[in-house]
Amino acid sequence: MKLKKNIPLIDQHDKDGFWGKKFGGSFIPETLKKPIDDLTNSFAKLRNNKKFIQKRDYYFKNYIGAPTPLIKLENLSHHLGGAQIWTKVVSEANGGAHKIYNATVHALICKSMGKKYIVGDTGAGYAGKMLSMAAKKFGLKCKIFMGIKDIKRQKPNCDAIRKNGAEIVPVYSGSQTLVDAVSECMRYWVSNCDTTHMAVGSTVGPNIFVKICGWSTSQISRELKLQIKKEFKNFPKKIKLINCVGGGSSAYGFWSEFIDFPKSQIELIGVEAGGPEKSRLHAAPLSRGAKIGILHGAASYVCQNKDGQINETESISAGLDYPGVSPIHCFLKDSKRAKYTYATDEEALKAYKLVTKFEKLNPSLEPSHAFAEAIKCAPKLSKDTIIIVNSCGDAKKDRDILKKRLRRKI
Ligand SMILES: *Cc1c(COP(=O)(O)O)cnc(C)c1O
Repeated sequence: MKLKKNIPLIDQHDKDGFWGKKFGGSFIPETLKKPIDDLTNSFAKLRNNKKFIQKRDYYFKNYIGAPTPLIKLENLSHHLGGAQIWTKVVSEANGGAHKIYNATVHALICKSMGKKYIVGDTGAGYAGKMLSMAAKKFGLKCKIFMGIKDIKRQKPNCDAIRKNGAEIVPVYSGSQTLVDAVSECMRYWVSNCDTTHMAVGSTVGPNIFVKICGWSTSQISRELKLQIKKEFKNFPKKIKLINCVGGGSSAYGFWSEFIDFPKSQIELIGVEAGGPEKSRLHAAPLSRGAKIGILHGAASYVCQNKDGQINETESISAGLDYPGVSPIHCFLKDSKRAKYTYATDEEALKAYKLVTKFEKLNPSLEPSHAFAEAIKCAPKLSKDTIIIVNSCGDAKKDRDILKKRLRRKI
């Protein structure tokens, strides 16, 4: 499996929408074909439209607050010895995480297509929260589809969604979680596609949603590339870009500008959720040998049992607690351009403790998985190696769980 040079990874799929012939595609009912084709055509035009790009960049800057800072974690680097550790504080974006990039672009697409309603599905609630935020900003009516089980366990996010003026549509079918919320949301979209746009919250789902999300989050690596050039007189010879991977949108956004660099110069390391040490459950399909399956309308490595039933997953971080992963990361794994590993719940907590002990940074539990990997490898590396971690979320949202697990206020 080989990557092509000079072509964005989001465009390196075949005519059926598959990356590396196996991953992605659009596994959708016939009734979804028309709205998906319409969206595909509109997006193809918009992404090449100067006015649309200007509008996107205007809101990235003046609504999201881009560029987010690149800072050096001097105390942590000094404590660990070895490589220099830097971080891009993407959590300083409006809303406290990278999901706002994708939500904003979807709201702009919705408006450009002349639609007034936007719908989306959510599991842990963060994608729904960000979409409702963007909908409010751009004056769109918003419905968020959510399994009733998730509604019950994610109350703060549900409150935030409603506060933004969006409606939560409870889903009672099947497992009453994300998988069924996705199906319900798509069904609703089919019946209302003349007035309504649909968004997916990560680089997952039918091919077009992977592309839109990747196109949106790639802003992060455009910024990072400029920041590295500005910071270092000579572009460093050894860089490791470490990012947590749930669906994979922040990792793709962090890496997209660097894919064509040689592996020996820029290494890409994805860190999945290994779950609790004592549990057999995890959310690490790439690093723990899951088989290919179909989830969310696309083929990817999926945590499943030997009969092909989707496995329940378990992770301390809600954002990473997803049994599938972006087809783009499956492609990056099989082409060996990126490496994937995992950190356990305990390792992520330990990393959180160490980072906050030495630095004025408050990474949520998702990027704490990435920091766990940085902490593992930094001491073994030389000073001229630059590790950059994407600090893609703020720990404010994890306050209760951190209080419980670390017995301290944050
Ligand atoms: C949702 C979320 C993730 C996981 O999603 P990706 O698509 O893999 O980025 C990671 N970190 C934070 C802070 C999130 O909110």
